[in-house]
Amino acid sequence: MDALITAVGLQKYFGSFHVLQDIDFAIAKGEVVCIIGPSGSGKSTFLRCINQLEKIDAGYVAIEGEIVGYRRDGNKLHPLSQSEIARQRQSVGMVFQRFHLFPHKTVLQNIVEGPVGVQKRPKRDCIDEAKTLLNRVGLSLKADAYPGELSGGQQQRVAIARSLAMKPKAMLFDEPTSALDPELVGEVLSVMKELAASGTTMIVVTHELGFCREVADRVLFMDAGRIVDCGTPAEILENPRNPRVKNFISAVL
Ligand code: ADP
Ligand code: MG
Repeated sequence: MDALITAVGLQKYFGSFHVLQDIDFAIAKGEVVCIIGPSGSGKSTFLRCINQLEKIDAGYVAIEGEIVGYRRDGNKLHPLSQSEIARQRQSVGMVFQRFHLFPHKTVLQNIVEGPVGVQKRPKRDCIDEAKTLLNRVGLSLKADAYPGELSGGQQQRVAIARSLAMKPKAMLFDEPTSALDPELVGEVLSVMKELAASGTTMIVVTHELGFCREVADRVLFMDAGRIVDCGTPAEILENPRNPRVKNFISAVL
């Protein structure tokens, strides 16, 4: 497999608490992996390690062969500076449960902030691209609205567009629909389905098993800091061989 992101022997502690225990993982370009598992099992921490929002204690994450947080110099690895980490972090987009939009900026301004302010790309191009992205997430009429004027589902779609505007190599989603009213979940999932169908590499932490079944190439089950099982949606969701997976799925359904 030609992996886009790999994690090898990943270990993470919070104090003496061993939150990620020997995580080995690889996702190919264009693949969609859903991560399910009980609350507190380390799903968010895993995504945060990939995106360098948490420090890795042992093992490593690599993106297209580049070890995150380090620069290779012959056989030696040198830790990156904060600004280099910030640049490397842009290669992976992340969408959270809460949308974190800038409340005092319009939808369009929210989307162009990263590409113009951070990536220093030409403003005209970024605005054109932002409009294309807004169309893609079904919000072309909301370019000049403020986040406070939008529903949670619309805000989350803006957050997805804002993340895509940075042209990431992969997208990480951490329970992107958990904070939404039930009637708004579908509009966000359908945007994510379109992204998946168009070849976006995605890691999605979610409790939406219907989405996993329909969209995931593989489903990972995490429990107590470990990847306990991994397989196709049919293997994991329909006929779970692992009793912990079976219990979890019957509790979620
Ligand atoms: P999940 O996303 O699967 O619910 P998390 O990755 O958020 O799980 O958390 C895994 C465990 O690590 C939980 O027990 C949580 O309380 C703990 N944890 C998460 N973040 C921190 C932190 N910054 N400091 C200490 N403990 C944390
Ligand atoms: Mg979480």
